[in-house]
Amino acid sequence: MKLPIYMDNHATTPVDPRVLEAMLPYFTQTFGNAASRTHVFGREAAAAVERARKQIARLIHANPPEIVFTSGATESDNLAIKGVARMHRQEGKSRNHIVTLPTEHKAVLDSCRRLEKEGFEVSYLPVGADGLVDLGELGGAISEGTMLVSVMAANNEIGVLQPINEIGELCRERGVLFHSDAVQAIGKVPVDVQAMNVDLMSITAHKIYGPKGVGALYVRSGKPEVRLAPLIDGGGHELGMRSGTLNVPGIVGLGKACELCMQDIVEESRRLTALRDRLKDGIQSRLEGVHVNGSMEHRLPHNLNLSFEGVEGEALLTGLDGVAVSSGAACRSLASESSYVLRAMGMGEDRAQSSIRFGLGRFNTQEEVDEVIDRIVETVKGLREFSGFALRSQEQW
Ligand code: PLP
Repeated sequence: MKLPIYMDNHATTPVDPRVLEAMLPYFTQTFGNAASRTHVFGREAAAAVERARKQIARLIHANPPEIVFTSGATESDNLAIKGVARMHRQEGKSRNHIVTLPTEHKAVLDSCRRLEKEGFEVSYLPVGADGLVDLGELGGAISEGTMLVSVMAANNEIGVLQPINEIGELCRERGVLFHSDAVQAIGKVPVDVQAMNVDLMSITAHKIYGPKGVGALYVRSGKPEVRLAPLIDGGGHELGMRSGTLNVPGIVGLGKACELCMQDIVEESRRLTALRDRLKDGIQSRLEGVHVNGSMEHRLPHNLNLSFEGVEGEALLTGLDGVAVSSGAACRSLASESSYVLRAMGMGEDRAQSSIRFGLGRFNTQEEVDEVIDRIVETVKGLREFSGFALRSQEQW
């Protein structure tokens, strides 16, 4: 068994060797600037970018010109949300309101907070104990003044899948634009921008075995019309929506990563579901007081989020030797506060503090899952013994 075992694939994934192989020539051989159309170096780079655009579009059922390259999903989320809001204002439109969820990624929430400071209004709808939004409540929150709804396809901590197709249908009926951060869903569950009626969708390469620092925003062309105020001004790249010299090797990697997802999604999801369920059953059959956070029914195949009664998540992470898991999103793993996602689901501080997120991935094996079960069980037992732990009643959890 090779240690440490990596099981934090929601934070990031290793680059698939096939992706790396596709990228390598674009560093040293085909290194041209994709905007230099006057010579062969530039034209070859541009051709590679257009090939990648097609590979991405195919995976999500979009048209290639609807793919705008960015530096990752943080930028894509910012561009989608601030871009729509600021363009509405620039064009003198009266709509001023955004609807989102408190369980969204910080890239969405902090963009909304920024817009509130600029005078826009934002509604943060509550989610249920299972992490899911109530469609009736969402319908009720959309008003005459609403310009945008932003709801993620899959949550990065608890893996729950929101009813995206229904939300898209509702937004379309009500004439409101719909943005979805689909970073965690892409390549894991089918994502189809037509079926979802989504108008803007954020993608990043490093969650699907591509490189870090490259992503894309799907921007619907045609009806309804989506117009964005750019965040970055410059040479007018990407139809003026995102200036800056394109990261050709990164874009080639993102394209290849999407192609591989498309090839392998069915088999990989089946395999990861089986491994995830083995992990869950293995832990729960040997330890009492272990609770699943978030809907098990509407969930990504590779996600498991568990709370261990009587155990501090941080203590478990420290005690767990040789296993890389996390207590939640990587962007807050340096802070000691508990997960805002779990708290938004109505969870008490104790349970939120005792949670661990497992993110299985393409390169995990059954042997590794069995080793992680053993190590978790041993560490939890040790910590409980040390603290004189007594099981609580279900109601308290
Ligand atoms: N949205 C979600 C749901 C994520 O999980 C992440 C990953 O951290 C991001 C956005 C940010 O993506 P990136 O790291 O590409 O900026």
